[in-house]
Amino acid sequence: MTIEAQRAQLLRWIEAETPDLIDVLARFARAASPNPPGDTREATGVLASRLEQAGQSYCTVALLAHAPNLIATIEGGHPGKHLVLNGHIDVFPCDDAHRWNHDPWGGAVVDGRVYGRGVSDMKNGTVALLFAHIWLARLADTLPGRVTLTAVSDEETGGTWGAQYLVDRHPEVLGDCLLNAEPGAPTTIRFGEKGILRLAVTVRTPGCHGAYTHKSPSATRIAARLVAALDAVTELPVAMEPEVARALDEGAAEMDRIHLPGAARVMRQFSLNLGVVRGGTKVNMLPGECRLEFDVRIPPGERSGTVMAEIERILAAFPEATLEVTGLSEPTWSSPKHPMVTALAEACSATCGFRPRAIASLAATDARKWRAKGVPAFTYGTTATNVAMPDEHTDIAEWLGVVKTLTLGAHAWLHAEAGR
Ligand SMILES: [Zn+2]
Repeated sequence: MTIEAQRAQLLRWIEAETPDLIDVLARFARAASPNPPGDTREATGVLASRLEQAGQSYCTVALLAHAPNLIATIEGGHPGKHLVLNGHIDVFPCDDAHRWNHDPWGGAVVDGRVYGRGVSDMKNGTVALLFAHIWLARLADTLPGRVTLTAVSDEETGGTWGAQYLVDRHPEVLGDCLLNAEPGAPTTIRFGEKGILRLAVTVRTPGCHGAYTHKSPSATRIAARLVAALDAVTELPVAMEPEVARALDEGAAEMDRIHLPGAARVMRQFSLNLGVVRGGTKVNMLPGECRLEFDVRIPPGERSGTVMAEIERILAAFPEATLEVTGLSEPTWSSPKHPMVTALAEACSATCGFRPRAIASLAATDARKWRAKGVPAFTYGTTATNVAMPDEHTDIAEWLGVVKTLTLGAHAWLHAEAGR
């Protein structure tokens, strides 16, 4: 069968099996997997039983018994590269069910949409990759290389039990390229993401009665001056490889369109969010302690060292302050000109009629864990509709476009690599 004929066959399967796709997504949505607490056994069972129905083998590996990670591999009939597909099974918790018009764990299919907590982030993406894997398996004899599906059970609390565990302890899932289906927008392919630096600063002074302001410096007032001084971090010059800078320039208008104006500017700067301020006990007491917690996002191209040096320089003027790093993941990026970007863009062009742009992502995904191990990784998914909000849903028509792009993009990349 020619590559063209295989492509046509894949599209016919997607067309014919759309009701099955929707049914599996609805059942996956009904299998509640909020994290915390992160018990994903029932939801993993939905994926596993669909693989069994397709006659495909899989295994589950787990550090925590209630949070299994599923791995399934197809060996192609010809030599080639190894493509890894990755999605997550766990979803955000839902503590505002009373504000929903649909049952968050009901998987309702209404007016061309599927509703449910986690349907958009990212049960729709995980199901898209599951089916891409099932369809590619039917073409295994003609397929070059290997495809490994990974569905992980801990993404929402940082990935320690999910992708991090897999990339550290199961090197068979690393592969030559990773395709992840986190939501973003189908008009964009994400090749990188910002890094995260979490800091806590504690300001301590003796403190005293609130009437005796001459007796002790105020920890909260010092903290307020410190907060203002730290704004300089967002003005730091940013180093970036020319091809990354060019891609971000070319994708700027689209980034502003999908994430509201300002997104493209924030992508290219060290952003700083003061997430927690805690100081003072009582209105008539002068505070002797104030704790600040900052979340600094580091643009692709930069490293945490640049911003740490600036923060330490600023803090030198505040001897009452002590600094603590509470979390760090460096930014990661792959080439925006990688053949996977071309494969996805062409697949989308051919099936949906528009060409997505390569941009970086403001928020973090598990793709960074593969990039950190040297594996190029890309994210392509639906619009992130109502993620972490009431009535989270996915638009079925848009989702089917993503299913086609992921399936045909994966297929095209495997063939292109084999011919290289
Ligand atoms: Zn997600």
